[in-house]
Amino acid sequence: MKIMSCKQLGGACDKEFHANSFEEIAELSKQHGTEMFQKKDAAHLKAMDEMMQLMQKPDAMTAWFEGKRKEFEALPESK
Ligand SMILES: [Zn+2]
Repeated sequence: MKIMSCKQLGGACDKEFHANSFEEIAELSKQHGTEMFQKKDAAHLKAMDEMMQLMQKPDAMTAWFEGKRKEFEALPESK
């Protein structure tokens, strides 16, 4: 089990996600982002806007995603 925060995953708050794989944590982060989007949380809307800009450039998006995957894999296991 590893932990990454919303902020570490390109979000806007300190909410922590616990997951065993990067795919899992990316999914949790996505669900949380959708929830915050529905609540129209300003900070998350801004973070999402920046993420959308990144998605316009597939290479940049892939690089970002792979960077986060490495960050996740480098994290120590938490109990
Ligand atoms: Zn958040």
